[in-house]
Amino acid sequence: MDITEIIKNQKTFFNTGKTKDVPFIKETLKKLLKEIEKREEDILQALYNDFKKPFFESVMTETELVKKELKEFIKNIKKWHKPKSVKPNLLNFPSSAKIYNEPYGSVLIISPWNYPFQLAFNPLIGAISAGNTVVLKPSELTPNTSKITREIIESTFKTEHIAVIEGGINISQELLKQRWDYIFFTGSVSVGKIVYQSASKNLTPVTLELGGKNPCIIDETANINLSAKRITWGKFINAGQTCIAPDYLLIHKSIKNIFVDALKKEIENFYGKDIQKSNDFARIININHFNRATNLLKNQEILFGGKNDINDLFIGPTLINEPNLESDLMNDEIFAPILPIISYETEEDINKVITKFEKPLALYIFSNRKDFAKKLINKYSFGGGTINDTTVHFTNKSLPFGGVGYSGIGSYHGKQTFDVFSHKKGVITRGTWLDIPIRYAPYNKKIKLLKHLMKWI
Ligand code: NAD
Repeated sequence: MDITEIIKNQKTFFNTGKTKDVPFIKETLKKLLKEIEKREEDILQALYNDFKKPFFESVMTETELVKKELKEFIKNIKKWHKPKSVKPNLLNFPSSAKIYNEPYGSVLIISPWNYPFQLAFNPLIGAISAGNTVVLKPSELTPNTSKITREIIESTFKTEHIAVIEGGINISQELLKQRWDYIFFTGSVSVGKIVYQSASKNLTPVTLELGGKNPCIIDETANINLSAKRITWGKFINAGQTCIAPDYLLIHKSIKNIFVDALKKEIENFYGKDIQKSNDFARIININHFNRATNLLKNQEILFGGKNDINDLFIGPTLINEPNLESDLMNDEIFAPILPIISYETEEDINKVITKFEKPLALYIFSNRKDFAKKLINKYSFGGGTINDTTVHFTNKSLPFGGVGYSGIGSYHGKQTFDVFSHKKGVITRGTWLDIPIRYAPYNKKIKLLKHLMKWI
């Protein structure tokens, strides 16, 4: 079926009102959960086949997160759909006021390859929960995961409700030419700009979940061994291909050498001496990214690692000493298991580096000085962050997850994902038993009374 036909059928289905029916939505979510549980082993295998993603990492960062989200939505969907009563205002006395949740209609979700299951399904769950129809375009760079995503959806739903359209840039561009009521995009800044431009033609609202160069600041009071362990985990999970991975370290000069030793030790503890043989370390997604990442190593001083193998798309965890801030490595988001280490002495040094880049998606601070951490949190603009750990702010569903400036527009997770896909419609119901006449013409002498009343209501 061609794209326009799918969209046309989805619009017809949306107009029946069925997608807004809460018991129907709940049933949809339950079916989806059941299907994911049934195919879990296949999903893990698909992720492994795509970039040797370790099963443990896939369970932790893909399938369990999606199942958890589904359970949360199944439990709360009825409550979230109920119109919310808010305080009526005296100006409208007598009245009541409510906020209604209204689905936008046709939603397009475009997802990336780096967490290909979770970043496709979690927005999808929000979009269908809010009562929309959805076309999901997963990434062409993870064909196995995209295929199983399509199979799960096709075996569970009618395409007039949810459709998965596989394909690359051409398909994505074809989809962006269509008229949507909401576009949810996760991916790079450059494609984010293309999506935003296409959306603007029809004033389509968007969420853009993008990337950035995430600083990780370690001051002289940080717990060295624990910080090194947590940074090793957050940087090298998924082989460094994580949007919120620390991009570079900014470390106080006085502890740099012992910290580098601690990092080397942790990398070996995690993956052993021959990392390429470890079952716990993923691969680079494709040859283009492999070439891009290995090129970043040119003219850099390697403190650790640097080993790579094009035939296996393997790049081992690599530490870089004091890169030139003008070098390619420091020009853009690294998105590979390469960690530049930059030392600082003063807060001004930190400032010079951070303000060189656009607002990042994440920022990390390792310190035992609460006021230092607080100062930095207030000083810099960034999507979200963690103090004394990396990436874990992502896992708290009560926190908004999203970027700011170049790292994105809008945020989601948990109930907020439901809110993202619902237009909030404010409605007042006026009582008819009383009608205060002051607002009606002729106004002549009422202005004084109006000013007096406006102070109170
Ligand atoms: P990408 O922007 O290359 O691709 C994302 C999607 O857009 C894919 O489905 C792709 O087919 C499509 N696409 C690619 N080029 C296109 C074009 N010219 N026109 C229209 N569509 C196009 O991103 P990626 O390489 O898949 O993912 C990595 C990027 O995503 C990184 O920058 C990372 O930081 C970011 N990311 C952000 C988050 C987040 O939550 N903020 C999560 C994961 C990844």
